[in-house]
Amino acid sequence: MMTPQQYEESLRRLNLVVYMFGKRIENVVDDPIIRPSMNAVAKTYEMAMRPEYEDIMTATSHITGKRINRFTHIHQNIDDLVKKSKMGRLLGRATGCCFQRCVGMDALNALSIVTYDIDQKHGTSYCKRFIDYLTYVQENDLTCDGAMTDPKGNRGLPPHKQTDPDMFLHVVEERADGIVVRGAKAHQTGAVNSQEVIVMPTIAMRAEDKDYAVSFALPSDAEGIIYIMGRQSCDTRKLEAGQLDRGNPFFGGHEALVVFDNVFVPWERVFMYKEYEFAGSLVENFAAYHRQSYACKVGVGDVLIGAAQTVAEYNGVERASHVKDKIIEMNHLNETLYCGCISCASEGHKEPSGTYAVDKLLANVHKQNVTRFPYEIARLAQDIAGGLMVTMPAEDDFKAPATAKWLEKYYAGDCDVPTMNRMRILRLIENLTLGTAAVGYLTESMHGAGSPQAQRIMISRLVNLAEKKRAAQKLSGIEDA
Ligand code: SF4
Ligand code: FE
Repeated sequence: MMTPQQYEESLRRLNLVVYMFGKRIENVVDDPIIRPSMNAVAKTYEMAMRPEYEDIMTATSHITGKRINRFTHIHQNIDDLVKKSKMGRLLGRATGCCFQRCVGMDALNALSIVTYDIDQKHGTSYCKRFIDYLTYVQENDLTCDGAMTDPKGNRGLPPHKQTDPDMFLHVVEERADGIVVRGAKAHQTGAVNSQEVIVMPTIAMRAEDKDYAVSFALPSDAEGIIYIMGRQSCDTRKLEAGQLDRGNPFFGGHEALVVFDNVFVPWERVFMYKEYEFAGSLVENFAAYHRQSYACKVGVGDVLIGAAQTVAEYNGVERASHVKDKIIEMNHLNETLYCGCISCASEGHKEPSGTYAVDKLLANVHKQNVTRFPYEIARLAQDIAGGLMVTMPAEDDFKAPATAKWLEKYYAGDCDVPTMNRMRILRLIENLTLGTAAVGYLTESMHGAGSPQAQRIMISRLVNLAEKKRAAQKLSGIEDA
């Protein structure tokens, strides 16, 4: 396993083509806007080194028998699935943001199932290729970007009917030594903090779309891959000298548009090639795993609840019955989310490949809850925080001689608490509910791993309505039930 320092050094060796604010970023690792997101991924390496977290953060490779970071592991039993959920909460709590590494883990696990299934039907050898690749990822403890979401153009049209054929990533050339692909993947979490990118199709496909039914892995700095960083609310506060106004000066997440401009993929890195009837299965397996991964939001919720309780105490209102009740409600919602990610793991099953998969219905129910409850938890945190969270002057005003004494005096809460601590915790709540971390805690909760309607479609497909009807009809005395 790599240390966080080795991870950082491995990123320095990459030659990524990254653009942000209209300019090429030459030193990605030290860029002040990107660096907190690198710190968050580095935490997945650091925690794996700590003996107290070994059980949750590491696993035994089923290929080599070696100790590996759980983010590179293929789930071998129910216990692995449960520990994966616990790992998400643990890291969400440690970073207060999206730590990005789950997408690669989920892509690896989904491919371990689907490459096996394709081989069973077509007599191909994707599974062996995939295991070779997985061994490389495990041995080098790599972070992989799991790239699924295509730009999609006109959402009412399938890939082959788009006016611009590149709206879904597709094969443009087949060569003796590999394939050439073109297209893009949008909203790519942690893309420039990854040494590898694993591409998968984004929807179920038919025969006419077979050029789009392609899955492969590449080094993240392969020729022709271009990254365009997404903005986040309040992102340029990271360029300021002070720490206060950033809310969480240590960690953050990032998303990027990843363009594949005629990129060559050697055959040994291709895991699906035109087997269109398996595109839907790869999407569903990845989505179910990634919906489980939203255990991360429970950990971020822990931080927000802790911040709300802290500010209540700083304000001297922690014993007010309505404040206590709001904290109870936040905990109730957050632990309900935890129930979802634990239950879909506990109810998991073994796939023909040997990989353990989560219960898809429960994973979708969990993610559906995640599209709602963090918003209510955030609303309650803002209620408890009060308006100062958004009317507070800048850190510089707390330092400037002309204003510091007034701010110290009038923004004091409980006299035993330094005014600056009160400001810090309010800025953290602002960060989590309105600032850079709100991307992860709120909008990503809504749309990451599929927007709410995607889960509702899966719930309607997976729920056994016939069985429920039979139960009701039988008990009501309907004779042919
Ligand atoms: Fe992992 Fe959560 Fe970030 Fe997705 S949103 S990559 S599950 S931390
Ligand atoms: Fe996500």
